[in-house]
Amino acid sequence: DKEVSLGDLAQRLGRPASEVIVLLLKRGIVANINKLLPRDVLAIVAKEYGATLVDTVKDTVNKSNVVKESLQKEQVVQEKRDPVVVIVGHVDHGKTTLLDYIRKTKVALGEAGGITQHLGAYSVPTNHGNVVFLDTPGHEAFSVMRERGVSVADVVALVVAADDGVRPQTIESIKAAQSLKAPIVVVINKIDKVDSLRIETVKRELSQYGLLSDEWGGETPYALISAKTGAGVDELIELLALQADMLDLVTSSAVAARGYVLESQIQKGRGAVASLLLHCGTLSVGDFFICGKVDGRVNSIVDGTGKSLKSVGPSKPVLVSGFYDFPKAGDLLQASSQKEVKKHQSEVEKDVQVKQLYDASQAAINVIVKVGS
Ligand code: GDP
Ligand code: MG
Repeated sequence: DKEVSLGDLAQRLGRPASEVIVLLLKRGIVANINKLLPRDVLAIVAKEYGATLVDTVKDTVNKSNVVKESLQKEQVVQEKRDPVVVIVGHVDHGKTTLLDYIRKTKVALGEAGGITQHLGAYSVPTNHGNVVFLDTPGHEAFSVMRERGVSVADVVALVVAADDGVRPQTIESIKAAQSLKAPIVVVINKIDKVDSLRIETVKRELSQYGLLSDEWGGETPYALISAKTGAGVDELIELLALQADMLDLVTSSAVAARGYVLESQIQKGRGAVASLLLHCGTLSVGDFFICGKVDGRVNSIVDGTGKSLKSVGPSKPVLVSGFYDFPKAGDLLQASSQKEVKKHQSEVEKDVQVKQLYDASQAAINVIVKVGS
């Protein structure tokens, strides 16, 4: 319940402070970058950037709990949700090699050869259900959401090369995962290059960062792999699925669709398209939606095998067209009524006007200050 300064909040939201100032100005609240914002004002800002943010601004709560609470309020049937795993770690420790190995050996690409590569995520079947892997390590969407205190990751797989040990980005990744309260599975990679003594050393190093191995009485599961040979990767995937299973992730496909943009691009003949991962609801062709500053109407939905779908539910990465403009990676998409979309459009326009007004007034102030000084 501590107060947060406007500058702090803007940073957490990954937005320029000037934008938040303008947003508040529009509502008659005058604030500068150092102003401490009370909870009701935080709520206004958070709502503007996605409804769950107010609770995640300070203490990041597990996204699944947020979804769970709102579902309980709405009294809809809960379904199990496939977990999303993000692979993080220091550069050259083998993230890409691991993701490539998993994609090549575990994902059915279908006849179209697969547009999986362009989705930024793919789904892998395991004995404990499907696991969705975010494809780009240090994914842009992941970092945007990390800044905003919302994580798309249910489980974080931390890759540490056995021959290199804990490095700066390893520590950064650990801190990020811990601040998001996402469980970490440690993946010691390149075991083909080292002996077991070296692996023990790395484990000991990691235990100093709160990642004591469960084999040593801690709570962190460890997987030993070689992304190059594939040794231990099957066990890793099962471990990730098992870990996620314990989180008791729920969703419902019967509520308004909500999900995050992973990547967006221009496609010939289709305009702006975005890969999308819903965490609840069902999105269908013809649905209106709002997505950050952008809106649109779903024109097509394509899955990782290149198959066109009429609709899609949670935890299935898809490519969606029908955006009137570019959404940004990490933007929250919400299915909305046509009326809401219209309202959103006029608000965005008004925002632009207020911003121009604000910029003009700032310029005027600068002039006055200059003249005065
Ligand atoms: P990233 O920066 O974390 O994505 O790391 P890469 O996947 O690009 O790997 C960096 C280098 O390490 C590449 O030359 C890989 O071939 C090599 N590499 C990755 N995993 C292994 C492994 O398990 N064993 C060995 N010997 N080399 C590996
Ligand atoms: Mg890489």
